[in-house]
Amino acid sequence: MEEKFASARKQFLMVLTLCTLIIALTELALYFYVKGPDGVLWNDFCVSNFYVPLAINLSVLVALTIIINNPNVKPVIMNYACVIGFVIVCTVVVTAHNDYPVLLAVFVVPVLWSTVFEDKLLCSATNVLCLIGILQLTVTSSIGGRTSQIIVNADDLARDLGVKIADGTKYIDGDMLVDMSRRTNTNTLWLNIILGIVLVTMARLFAHLMLIQLQKKDTMLQTHEKDNMALEKQLLRDQMTGLYNHTAFYEFLDRCVKMKGDEPLTLAVVDIDDFKKVNDTYGHDNGDEVILTLSKIMQEHCGTDNYVCRYGGEEFAVIFPNSREKDARQIMLNILDAFRNTHYDWHSGSITFSCGVFQCSPYRMNAEEFFQITDKLLYKAKHNGKNQVCGGQ
Ligand code: GH3
Ligand code: MG
Ligand code: MG
Repeated sequence: MEEKFASARKQFLMVLTLCTLIIALTELALYFYVKGPDGVLWNDFCVSNFYVPLAINLSVLVALTIIINNPNVKPVIMNYACVIGFVIVCTVVVTAHNDYPVLLAVFVVPVLWSTVFEDKLLCSATNVLCLIGILQLTVTSSIGGRTSQIIVNADDLARDLGVKIADGTKYIDGDMLVDMSRRTNTNTLWLNIILGIVLVTMARLFAHLMLIQLQKKDTMLQTHEKDNMALEKQLLRDQMTGLYNHTAFYEFLDRCVKMKGDEPLTLAVVDIDDFKKVNDTYGHDNGDEVILTLSKIMQEHCGTDNYVCRYGGEEFAVIFPNSREKDARQIMLNILDAFRNTHYDWHSGSITFSCGVFQCSPYRMNAEEFFQITDKLLYKAKHNGKNQVCGGQ
């Protein structure tokens, strides 16, 4: 059976590949529409926004593909790899565009998406990784990142500060302007980082709620499954003996005949001899004990590969989906031997049964014909004096 989250990881890898493509195309589009094809800026742009981010994203994709498709890697490690890869791609986008603070909101996506794996620790780890992804902006910006290079329009800044530059009413020093500009940028950076942290923390709260709901759904599904199993047991099992009942017997027989391949399929039908006499002489409760005794012996001898059924009051059947009639006959003879040698406190003689054994023929035969032929062999056993197995010689 496929591991629970295998398909989620494969789908994620496909979406991340698509996103990487979209990011690369958007970068090119942004360059041409926002900045215009300028010969000098083109090289700078390509390095910081195209080649390097694309190379990192593609490396992440290749690494993830290798990890996810390696059968020796534990599923939980694969899940962590997906989340780490996702956060790296988000960090690359945000760092390449740290002059577009709105992009910090992208960190909300891995936090929410991590709930797919229904793992509280993984969700918390994703949250921490995203916070690191946001905070790294302080480092990358101070060591030549692009925030410090944001070009602030001198007129705009002057207007913001309430000073005039051009008309000479107030004079403002060029160095002072640059210094003010830097300080404004640093303040803006911290403001954006704090807003990013708030966003990611909110996403973490929602992720927590989603996890609780997923767990509730899981518990409900498990309860349903248990109920279904109990119901199925009630529908297919005989209450007294625990063997497959009348309905199950005909259903299994039909299924086995229809699905029959090269393996031999054999049926044995059993009827306790003179059971009415047992009931009439020793009482119904003792009769029940005989039925239970035979059920136990049949289960012990037939194992779990064969279907042992009680399809009538004192009538039993065994479907052997993978046995030749010779082998099935031997098993039934062993059962008969154990049954007639059973000692009951209330009975001195031995109680026996008659049995018919028949192997489904290779040419087309339906379940009804199969059962009728085997049943005829049972009546032949009765007719021949009971206490015997007929067929399979
Ligand atoms: P034969 O050898 O020809 O099979 O004779 P028989 O007496 O076994 O056959 P018959 O069909 O006349 O009797 C079957 C009896 O099985 C009748 C019925 O009361 C009894 N019986 C059916 N189900 C149960 C049960 O669950 N418990 C008990 N104690 N008796 C049952
Ligand atoms: Mg009978
Ligand atoms: Mg009988």
